Amino acid sequence: MADRKCLALIAHDQKKDDLAAFVKANEAVFAGLKIVATGTTGGRVLDICPGLDVTRLKSGPLGGDQQIGAMIATGDVDCLIFFVDPLTPMPHDVDVKALMRLAIVYDIPMALNRATAEELIAFRRS
Ligand code: PGA
Repeated sequence: MADRKCLALIAHDQKKDDLAAFVKANEAVFAGLKIVATGTTGGRVLDICPGLDVTRLKSGPLGGDQQIGAMIATGDVDCLIFFVDPLTPMPHDVDVKALMRLAIVYDIPMALNRATAEELIAFRRS
């Protein structure tokens, strides 16, 4: 299934419940995709949807965001859904910014909140 699209999933701590609920509500859509996720986010997704094909990378503050950025640069990630917490200072803020920058440089679809993520996957629902 090498031609499956690869989706990257990340959620900041205050947004993890929201992302888990979003994935659960759209499980059928995500079931057709290869998923990579930062460590804790991926764990939460697998807790709620154990059947999904999720590869967990390092936790975001420990380099997971940069790992996903590198995968975008090598063409291994086709789409980014990142539920960002805009109200909490992050120690890895520079990594988050760099990741978003690469998503723009390589012009991949990027959703930074649930409303946009819903639109992004809407065409895959039937
Ligand atoms: P986490 O990383 O999923 O390991 O919590 C997300 C982040 O804060 O970038």
